[in-house]
Amino acid sequence: MSARILVVDDQPANVRLLEAKLQAEYFDVCTAVDGFAAIEVARVEQPDLILLDVMMPRMDGYETCRRLKHDPATRHIPVVMVTALDQRDDRIRGLESGADDFLTKPIDDVTLFARVRSLLRLKTVLDELRFRESSDALNSIMSEPVGDDAAVAQAIIISGDVRAATRYAAAMPPQVRTQVELDPAAGIAAARKNADLLVIDLTSPAFDGLRLCARIRSDVATRQMPIIAVLNPGDVANAVRALDIGVNDIIHRPVDAGEMMARVSTQLRRKRYADRLRSQLDESLEMAITDPLTGLHNRRYIASRLRQAVESANNGGAPVSLLIADIDHFKSINDRFGHEGGDRVLRSFADRLMRDLRALDLAARYGGEEFVIVMPGAGQAEARIASERLRASIAAEPFLVGDGQTAPVTVSIGFAQARVGEDADALLRRADEALYTAKGDGRNRVEAAANEAA
Ligand code: GH3
Ligand code: MG
Ligand code: MG
Repeated sequence: MSARILVVDDQPANVRLLEAKLQAEYFDVCTAVDGFAAIEVARVEQPDLILLDVMMPRMDGYETCRRLKHDPATRHIPVVMVTALDQRDDRIRGLESGADDFLTKPIDDVTLFARVRSLLRLKTVLDELRFRESSDALNSIMSEPVGDDAAVAQAIIISGDVRAATRYAAAMPPQVRTQVELDPAAGIAAARKNADLLVIDLTSPAFDGLRLCARIRSDVATRQMPIIAVLNPGDVANAVRALDIGVNDIIHRPVDAGEMMARVSTQLRRKRYADRLRSQLDESLEMAITDPLTGLHNRRYIASRLRQAVESANNGGAPVSLLIADIDHFKSINDRFGHEGGDRVLRSFADRLMRDLRALDLAARYGGEEFVIVMPGAGQAEARIASERLRASIAAEPFLVGDGQTAPVTVSIGFAQARVGEDADALLRRADEALYTAKGDGRNRVEAAANEAA
């Protein structure tokens, strides 16, 4: 995994040492010798990760981190605090200033690279989600104060040791509801049902904690769930394995309540951020493909699906047929019953259309009162049947246009089967010409494209 890493330290020797280690692993390294320079470089270079020394003159690492996490241009970049101190208060202060992780000097390489890989993986996911999102929405999420976890969260602690589990539970932030599971299978079941965070005790001799973590990571229902693993002090080998499996954070025994609280808060904040991004992304994807009035696909979406289907037919795949349906004299419906009445007809038209289609078929509102139906796998004969069925179902029963008021509606339809070598535009053109013929021949009619085998 190649990535750009910003190393910040006021001691040139420390900078050079870290730089050399990271470059040896093919990371792209940029450097800064104080907090002010770090903020500037981070803004301009947009590194994927920042390794930040705590003890620096003028502005220390905590303040630098706070400012980085406050700035919309840099707040999404993971920060790892690097310090000579291994004091609990410093760790907690670091996490509270928004740091994503903590390393103590002298930095041992294995831990360094495991942490770096784990944070870079996370950043890749978030970057993907961030990609299309407006910065406004993001800013409001990320500017929530660190550790402000007003939303109630559900944590599950999985440990074979009841007393340890009870201690971890007592260390959860106040708004976190906690459930303790002594058995890993029950833990997985609970996680699948409802959880925002898992604390998994890897020191339990009763079960294989790493295997449990791997199973949770490979299950779609729990793939995104933050995991904090509990390990024995100095167990670097398992820490590296756990991080490589996809565990989000490690905490060592004896578990300090303040540190547990800070790490849980960091993970929950991150999860909320990712959840919000995901739901915004779903929403904007939905909007990008759906016609808001009828709920059918929109023109852009159907055009791309039609291109795919035509291409596949041209490459020896299943045939594809296309219908264009246009409501007759729709203008007069608007004239008589108002725009509202016209809209009701469009919505009911879409409902009847959907009712008559096969599961495979794709229907879109193509323009004002014009609809396109792509029928993958359908030839000329099936397209004719579908067209006639739709025409009849529209004409069969008048449409509701207002309070108790109804109006008869009819539709004209042109259809065509894609020919070998023909592209989507040519197919659309032929179906449209058939529609034009149907209109000219008196409306409420179905017409096959010209030159089509009968
Ligand atoms: P034809 O039988 O030849 O298709 O006649 P038509 O009146 O249906 O066709 P024309 O294209 O002349 O008019 C379509 C009308 O559809 C004009 C436009 O005001 C109306 N329209 C377009 N979009 C909407 C919409 O979203 N809601 C409503 N209520 N009317 C719309
Ligand atoms: Mg019309
Ligand atoms: Mg029209």
